[in-house]
Amino acid sequence: MTTEPDDTEQQPAAAAARYTAEWQLFLDWCATIGRTPLPADLDTVHAFLVACPAQPATQRRRLTAIDHHHRAAGHPPPARGGALRDLVRGRPARPARRPLDPAAVDTALRRLPASGWTRGWFGRRDRALLVLAAADIPYRHLAQLTAADITINRGAATITTPAGDVQLAATDQAWACPACAVTAWMDLLYLEATRGTRQVAHVLHYADPLHAGIPHNCYSPRPPDWTGDAIPLLPPIDQHGWTPLDRPTGLSRQSISHLARQAAAGTHQPHRDIPPPASGQQPIEFTDEVLAPTLTYDIQQWQHGIHQRHAAREQLANIGDALDDMDTRIAELEARTKQLLEQGGRVQHT
Ligand SMILES: [Zn+2]
Repeated sequence: MTTEPDDTEQQPAAAAARYTAEWQLFLDWCATIGRTPLPADLDTVHAFLVACPAQPATQRRRLTAIDHHHRAAGHPPPARGGALRDLVRGRPARPARRPLDPAAVDTALRRLPASGWTRGWFGRRDRALLVLAAADIPYRHLAQLTAADITINRGAATITTPAGDVQLAATDQAWACPACAVTAWMDLLYLEATRGTRQVAHVLHYADPLHAGIPHNCYSPRPPDWTGDAIPLLPPIDQHGWTPLDRPTGLSRQSISHLARQAAAGTHQPHRDIPPPASGQQPIEFTDEVLAPTLTYDIQQWQHGIHQRHAAREQLANIGDALDDMDTRIAELEARTKQLLEQGGRVQHT
């Protein structure tokens, strides 16, 4: 197995001499099709390697030459995306992500539930997930987003992604409005983090089903500086409706891709509509219509909710410790009993 150096910092002069032909080919190709060779962007380098097919070892030498000449001229080497790495390793290019059909997304938004427990909890998450996926935000970015990356204002949801801001504008009908889908999910996330899952269940249980005449909720501002940066925007939900919101893990990009395609195809898994779990607290009396305008993002309340969830987790951890202690004690008693029985046996036989 031969290995190619992937940078030339250690022996710049030797590498430069060795890769002159590769660099010259790149310069010629750029000149022919009007691309800038120095500094070159990812797209140019990728297009060059695709246009001039060669063995992986040759492609790696070309990349080394390009990187070297960038460094020598005081530029950082061009970025390396996944497709470029695949090319250089001789792997077939990954299939490009197929965009979701806008008509299918629109139909799915009218069909995915936004009320009922646990149905509406999954439904609202997947409505938000669907409109975000339909906006062509990479799944790997969706997997990283937190509640703090969303701003709602004046009929638009702004999503701050690593690749820049994406805006989802309101459409005519609220029940198929992408900005409303995100807003309705943000309201539930906030409720979950501040008041807990039981309150989410009560709100969803009493919420009106979606229908054509519902008003938009995406015009009411949600402050951009709420402290939701530790809350994954798209958390997993278990069959009972519980989410691991106080742990910084969202759905994986594979799960997001899978759920988006299922939702758009109308093959999403149906979820139950059952009475909400019993709660010692008085449920909040609000319907789907009044949910958004009456909720205000209170940072104190948010943090209180997070602390409560952490406290609950610690209490459960203590129960685990107690059970461990009991196990140890039982093992000790068993050993002691066995010892006594053996001693007793010896006494009987003597
Ligand atoms: Zn709307």
